[in-house]
Amino acid sequence: MGEEANPIHLFRQLHHHYGPQHWWPSESPFEVMVGAILTQNTAWERVETAIENLRVNQLLSVEGILSVSQSELAELIRPSGYFNLKSKRLQGYCSWYMEHEEQLWKMDTNRLREALLGVNGVGPETADDILLYAFERPVFVVDAYTRRIFQRTGILSGDESYEPIRSRVEQAFSAEGGEIRVQQFNEFHALIVAHAKQHCRTRPLCDGCPLRCGYPSTQASSR
Ligand code: SF4
Repeated sequence: MGEEANPIHLFRQLHHHYGPQHWWPSESPFEVMVGAILTQNTAWERVETAIENLRVNQLLSVEGILSVSQSELAELIRPSGYFNLKSKRLQGYCSWYMEHEEQLWKMDTNRLREALLGVNGVGPETADDILLYAFERPVFVVDAYTRRIFQRTGILSGDESYEPIRSRVEQAFSAEGGEIRVQQFNEFHALIVAHAKQHCRTRPLCDGCPLRCGYPSTQASSR
């Protein structure tokens, strides 16, 4: 494996090209949690509309979300898609969060991750979104964009499951202190999303790409 296939090198290249991204676009840890659940299988722009609906109705709080019926909540978050399922998940998450909030903030990262994964509808990516962006823990989020870019740049061979990818990146950055890693993982995930949208799309736009990774030219038609 050469230097190009190193997560830290990839992070530096993307950061040099795109600059700081300043994520997560939210106003509070709880809003991050709501966004992490609503963004499952949906573009972020649609989630923003759903969150705005909650905000203007003064329901963007644990108490607010639990104060309405599931069908009322589903109607408000309709723009985020899968709104019946997500309304059920969101209310389930809020009940759980309200019951355990104080202990959660004191838990170490591994225990907190296990607790989050025990909530209905919270899978590894959602749990890690919440850990990183709401609880500010040094956790790397793996999403479909991460897999795509890691595969094309040779960091992954293609069939790795979620956990090996996450731990590989976290180990690569382990020499840094916790607070620095939180900032780095925040930036890295945001940079990956930016790169996946601007260049490394499903059909990649390799012209002008800062990585020039050598992804097979037969698949990398740039127009
Ligand atoms: S060169 Fe093409 S395939 Fe490689 S990272 Fe850039 S856009 Fe993606």
